[in-house]
Amino acid sequence: MAEMHSGVGRQRGSLPWPRPRRIATLSVHTSPLHQPGTGDAGGMNVYILEVARRLAEADVEVEIFTRATSGDLPPVVEVAPGVHVRHVMAGPLEGLTKEELPGQLCAFTAGVLRAEAARPPGHYDLIHSHYWLSGQVGWLAKDRWGVPLVHTAHTLAKVKNAQLAAGDRPEPKARVIGEEQVVAEADRLVANTRVEARDLVGRYDADPTLVAVVEPGVDLDRFRPASGDRDAATTAARVRLGLPTRGHLVAFVGRIQPLKAPDVLIRAIAALRDRDPVLAREVGVVICGGPSGTGLDRPTALIELAASLGVADRVHFLPPQTGTDLPLLYQAADLVAVPSYNESFGLVALEAQACGTPVVAAAVGGLVTAVRDQVSGVLVRGHDPVDWARTLGRLLPDRGRLAELSVGAARHARNFSWHRTADGLLTVYGEAIAAHRARLTSELAGSRCW
Ligand code: UDP
Repeated sequence: MAEMHSGVGRQRGSLPWPRPRRIATLSVHTSPLHQPGTGDAGGMNVYILEVARRLAEADVEVEIFTRATSGDLPPVVEVAPGVHVRHVMAGPLEGLTKEELPGQLCAFTAGVLRAEAARPPGHYDLIHSHYWLSGQVGWLAKDRWGVPLVHTAHTLAKVKNAQLAAGDRPEPKARVIGEEQVVAEADRLVANTRVEARDLVGRYDADPTLVAVVEPGVDLDRFRPASGDRDAATTAARVRLGLPTRGHLVAFVGRIQPLKAPDVLIRAIAALRDRDPVLAREVGVVICGGPSGTGLDRPTALIELAASLGVADRVHFLPPQTGTDLPLLYQAADLVAVPSYNESFGLVALEAQACGTPVVAAAVGGLVTAVRDQVSGVLVRGHDPVDWARTLGRLLPDRGRLAELSVGAARHARNFSWHRTADGLLTVYGEAIAAHRARLTSELAGSRCW
């Protein structure tokens, strides 16, 4: 397994590997133009767009193929110089769930192949597929175009199924098989963390020499600590967002589904009230995001839970936030909680820390990398609300400890950037292209012997 450590913003030609001129990025089930934090749009959408921008700045054009889901958008949208989103017609614009999309993969693949066929030969140097549905498309396109396929899984069904929330639906066998096929076919696999790399090798039988760890990043210009006095900035942010200005505030930010476990936070507040009613009266929770996945089955479940536990007055709900409001929300919170059962990385944890807000996270998956335990936040083992209440109850009243963790959080986040991610990917792309060319050359030499 290779770990990518490279400098920022290198110019064309400075890497020892060939650099693609143009790549096709595949994102079948969700568009980077969608608002993240609800439905199927989350960290992967942010990742694809942020990386595409940085690649384009490094002279690599990126065309992102995604399924058309709105009649309002043109077939091709330029989102930044050198970055285009292409909408592929595959099934109806509305009404299809992610689980129904395998039935549209043939139509989607045809759309991708036809778009390429309309271009001069050799238009794309490489394909990068995201999530297993895109990997299925990339696998066929790579054979047709004679270019390498780089694949990022983002989540893995076998891992997800091993860490399901109580009552959550397991991922179907068809997805597991589909993922295994893509792992076997891809020229290179990109893992967000070493944990994911180990899972690819251990659970999916990936060739370790083809797996590279490239960590995701964070936009440090957008997500940064408020300037000036932190307490004053916190109050100002709360006023802007319509949140209570007094007391402690813990934020959950992300797609609302059982896997992300926002219920653990609400249950923890109820457990805190039972342990320390005086402190609990001072603690509020804000849940920001929209329903997603199996969370769509009962979109009001969290409101009902808070009411049934008698903490409805402590819990505030916000719709998905965009642009400047998300950094404000992180700045408004004393702590950000990420209680997920599984998280391939956890961009929210990184963004919060970049804003100087410590994170209390479950010690699972990529969160172990995204949060430095006791330095930038606290990792909690398991999902017992009593354990979460104990951790929150210890941290929230301790202003000194929170200030220490805040400094550690901002410092830890500075280890990550999208430039660094794009640079790591360029190395993987270069290796994949070089290996592909070497294989073609040896095949050609072999055929000449006859
Ligand atoms: N997000 C957002 N607005 C919201 C909630 C979330 O833009 O209201 C974004 C957030 O900034 C982050 C992404 O959605 O970049 C969620 O990524 P994460 O890796 O935390 O979780 P995922 O959705 O991939 O499971």
